[in-house]
Amino acid sequence: MSREADIVVIGAGPAGYAAAIRSAQLGHAVICIDKSIDRNGQPTLGGTCLNWGCIPSKALLDVSYTFTRMTEFQKMGISVEDHQIDISKMLTYKNSIVDKLTSGIDVLFKGNEVTFLPGTGQLGSGREVTYTSHDGSQETITANHVILAPGSTPIDIPAARIDHELIVDSTDALEFEEVPKRLGVIGAGIVGLELGSVWNRFGSEVVILEAFEDFLPMADRRAAREALKIFKKQGLDVRLGARVVSSTVEDGVVKVAYQLKGEDLVLECDKLIVAVGRRPYTEDLLSQECEVNIDERGFLFVNDLCLTDAPDVYAVGDVVRGPMLAHKGMEEGVMVAERIAGHKPIVNYETVPSVIYTHPEIAWVGQSEDELKANGEKFNSGMFSYSANGRAMAAHETEGFVKIIADAKTDRIRGVHILGAQASELIAQGVIAMEFGATAEDLALTMFAHPSLSESVHEAALSVGGNAIHTVNRRKKK
Ligand code: FAD
Ligand code: NAD
Repeated sequence: MSREADIVVIGAGPAGYAAAIRSAQLGHAVICIDKSIDRNGQPTLGGTCLNWGCIPSKALLDVSYTFTRMTEFQKMGISVEDHQIDISKMLTYKNSIVDKLTSGIDVLFKGNEVTFLPGTGQLGSGREVTYTSHDGSQETITANHVILAPGSTPIDIPAARIDHELIVDSTDALEFEEVPKRLGVIGAGIVGLELGSVWNRFGSEVVILEAFEDFLPMADRRAAREALKIFKKQGLDVRLGARVVSSTVEDGVVKVAYQLKGEDLVLECDKLIVAVGRRPYTEDLLSQECEVNIDERGFLFVNDLCLTDAPDVYAVGDVVRGPMLAHKGMEEGVMVAERIAGHKPIVNYETVPSVIYTHPEIAWVGQSEDELKANGEKFNSGMFSYSANGRAMAAHETEGFVKIIADAKTDRIRGVHILGAQASELIAQGVIAMEFGATAEDLALTMFAHPSLSESVHEAALSVGGNAIHTVNRRKKK
């Protein structure tokens, strides 16, 4: 069998579904192929993000944070006697949110007349796609444009092979049916910290083995330093500079052999999460005949506009260079859809926000002080602590700070770094400011509602010029 379409999208994660919906809105006949199967054995939309990533992990983070806050409620005058967590009910709650959102994509596809084909898509020569349904039947689809959005998959390391029971990946770690007494994690990256936090909040003794000596090297140095102290206080035992050698399972216990400061050590745990990064997922995607090239790290090679080496074949999301983040993929998907329709948008990779949803949250956009120093660029920075913010005090959320970095000459904002409650929300102010080319003074001259956490953004901007009101200014010129 064969058919035709204006656009075929392979992959219905955030990058692919955004590309498909936007293309259909712009008047194209769109087919979207996705192979994911949900926990009930049914085809599902939304990719990693909605099914096994952003959304379920945030459901568990929000439930577990609410659970830990119960103990703090006492300080605020609220008595919560003997609170318990029912893990099975929590998983049902998490699944209900996943189901609502994944079926929401189905509604959006139907409403925008995107044809969804459950199964595998493979790019052939030109813009020919072979679609193989889950029952094995095949058809050829010829399109004017193809958008590849197959996403990424967890990296597996020989020193800790995933068995999906005791040695698990991030997907399995969202499904633990009981709280592991001792939880080992390999990798103090975003997944390790977020999922380590979830289970630590329910009582797991969590040890995180991290190969690097530096904690969160991509974050602001002060934010990383303060966060590490706070996480340690919360019970996350982060061991930096730990080289994992091997892992074995004996009598239901995982034994992880590792080296730290020249010493041979063994970590015993009941579950081990391997969270050492993700790699582009390109299995079954490309035929021998297709002209798409792969770079040395396994990513599909694309230019700034997400065009591959094959004419009219684009690639977006985790499978191409840049941060593996849902919002970056969505923006790329929309850009490609609009470019195909003849519009001229670009993705501004300078303003991709990053958030780690621990508590406190860590969020940043733009450059760090270290990056600017390394480039020999001069800057001024301003900081404001949550502990001096009235709303943060009222909410018993005084850990952390906002830092704004501005060019020494032009005062243009080059970076915003936040450690603190609701950093994921506050960082949007930095993104908007940078997108509009704002100076620190622009933010300083803006009125913010009082009392609000956002006032910390205002005060940090004021402090760039040494003009903060609610803290003693220590303006540093670099
Ligand atoms: P995916 O979401 O991976 O979707 C790709 C889809 O394509 C999948 O459904 C796959 O089955 C399908 N596919 C692949 N190959 C084929 C083929 N040949 N034929 C048909 N279908 C195919 N990012 C954030 O921004 N914020 C977060 O809070 C966040 N939290 C996360 C938490 C966890 C635990 C994890 C693992 C990831 C998290 N991420 C987060 C990352 C985020 O999930 C990814 O960046 C995002 O899902 C990438 O979108 P994508 O569309 O490129 O790929
Ligand atoms: P990561 O790259 O964030 O962190 C992996 C960590 O593992 C690094 O610190 C690395 O040094 C360490 N590591 C690598 N090999 C190791 C080894 N052999 N022994 C010990 N440590 C080792 O990767 P991740 O945490 O798996 O997350 C994957 C990606 O998913 C992230 O980079 C991010 O793009 C995305 N994600 C985003 C969010 C979010 O936006 N909040 C949440 C989860 C995942």
